[in-house]
Amino acid sequence: MRLNIDYEHISFGGGVDSTALLIEWWRKELKPIDIIFSDTGIEQTKTYEHVAHIMKLAQEYGHKTIVVGGYERAHQDGNYTMYPDYYSYCFQNKIVPLRAYRKECTYRFKIVPSNRYIRSILGIKNFRNKNILSYIGYNYDEKNRINDTVYKWQQQIFPLIEWKLGRKHVKQICRDYLGYVPIKSRCIICPNQNPIEWNYSYNHHKEIIDDLVINAQSDILNFPITKKDLGINPDPKQKLLTDFLSVD
Ligand code: SF4
Repeated sequence: MRLNIDYEHISFGGGVDSTALLIEWWRKELKPIDIIFSDTGIEQTKTYEHVAHIMKLAQEYGHKTIVVGGYERAHQDGNYTMYPDYYSYCFQNKIVPLRAYRKECTYRFKIVPSNRYIRSILGIKNFRNKNILSYIGYNYDEKNRINDTVYKWQQQIFPLIEWKLGRKHVKQICRDYLGYVPIKSRCIICPNQNPIEWNYSYNHHKEIIDDLVINAQSDILNFPITKKDLGINPDPKQKLLTDFLSVD
């Protein structure tokens, strides 16, 4: 770990892994530091409820909790367009979220807002010569993911990997502490959903999925996807995810 840290924070995603990271942080009585949740604006209702619950607990443990969101695009003429959520960004820019490059949503609606906040509190335009520590909730079974995420200005630390806590452990940690396992944190329109997850999204946010399909089929986007293509089956006897039950 570097000395002379300018800023350090825990990156909270609202899912099982980063929730278990916080629970272990509290159990080990580590120093309370800032917790940043990047809100894409199109998360599941149950995720928002869970995030609110965890943020309240975190404040009781002495953390400062920050919710950031919205993507601000700079234009050449010096003006800006602010997109409050990933869904409005897609449709205003004629992007079909179902085939959008997934790193784009993560970058614009999670990484950029978080970085904007950190720069604002440090009063800087860029991170040159600054030492920033980010604690990330990848679990031990995801060790290989740490190679994906390298920024020169930011040192990323993966406590769950250091503590050798895999997927099974993090779910148990949540179950023991909270009495439930949070649902996988995933946008309602995330292209990476499997059919069970699409059905969950449809059953909880019908109007958004219907709108997505209508917009995708419109002349503007011309991407004729149907609910059936997504695996959505309105049969009430189908296998459904229950709230606060992790997908895998
Ligand atoms: S959950 Fe899916 S849609 Fe949302 S930011 Fe992540 S990859 Fe993008």
